[in-house]
Amino acid sequence: MTQRVPVLMYHSVSERPPRGTTRLSVHPDQFDAHLRLLRRRGYRTATFGELGEALRTGARLPERSVVLTFDDGYADFHDHALPSLEARGFLATVFVTTGWLADAGPRAAGEPLDRMLTWSQLGRVAGAGMEIGAHGHSHAQLDQVSPPALREELQLSKGLLESELHSPVRSLAYPFGYSSPRVRREAGAAGYRYAAAVGNTMIGEQPDLLALPRMTIRRSTSLDVFDRLVRGERIGRTFAVDRALTWGWSLVRRGRAPLTRIRERSGRR
Ligand SMILES: [Zn+2]
Repeated sequence: MTQRVPVLMYHSVSERPPRGTTRLSVHPDQFDAHLRLLRRRGYRTATFGELGEALRTGARLPERSVVLTFDDGYADFHDHALPSLEARGFLATVFVTTGWLADAGPRAAGEPLDRMLTWSQLGRVAGAGMEIGAHGHSHAQLDQVSPPALREELQLSKGLLESELHSPVRSLAYPFGYSSPRVRREAGAAGYRYAAAVGNTMIGEQPDLLALPRMTIRRSTSLDVFDRLVRGERIGRTFAVDRALTWGWSLVRRGRAPLTRIRERSGRR
C-alpha cells in the first residue's frame, strides 16, 4: 500500500515579500512554527528525491515522514529557511529556476519576482545536505512552449545545476505546477526520475512519479490548517479556494494575459 507522505510546497520565506508575491510567501516566524509543530509531532523529513526513490522501488520511508519543497530559488531560502532547517536537522528540496539565479550572467532568462539565490549560496545549500532540483531555466509554462524550447528548458536547467554542483539532478518541479503528457514524456527523456506538480492532495495509490502532487502552503495558512493538512485531513475551504484559483488560472491562461497578472490572480508561481 502506498504510504501517505505529505509533500508541502513553499515559495519564499520572508518578512516583507514584494507586492504581488505575498500570498505564496510565508513569514520566517510562521515557518519556524511549522517546523516546531513537525518536530513536536515526531516528524522527520525526507527529500523529494528520497520519496521518489522509495515510491519507485517500493521501499517505505520511516513513519511520519514529510517532504518540504521550495520553488523558484529565492535568496531568503538561504537567509531564513536554511538556518531553521539546519537547527532541527531537517532536510528540504529546493527547485531552482536556473535563469533566475542572481548571478546567472549571460544565461539570465525570464523575470525573477524577488531577490534570488546566487550560485555560491546554492552551493552552500547543497553542501548542507539539501536536495537541489530543477524548475526550468526561464520559468516558462512547459505545456505551452514549442518542442525544442521544452527540451531546452528541461535539459539546460538540469545540465547547469549538475555541472555547477557536481551532483546528479533527478527531481523536477513544473513551473506553475502544470504539465501535460508531452511534458512528462520529455521530462523522463531528459533524465528526470521524479517530478512535482501541484495537487493539494496526498499521494495516492500507484502514483505517477512524474506528477507527484504537493500541497500549497500560503501566508494565510493557519497553524491549525497546516497541522490538519500534514495529517492528511481534507480541508474544505482551502480546497475550495484552490479549486477556484485553478479555475481562474485556466481561464486567464486561455486568454494569454500578461504573466504578472496571471501570477497575481492565480497565486501560483
Ligand atoms: Zn515557480
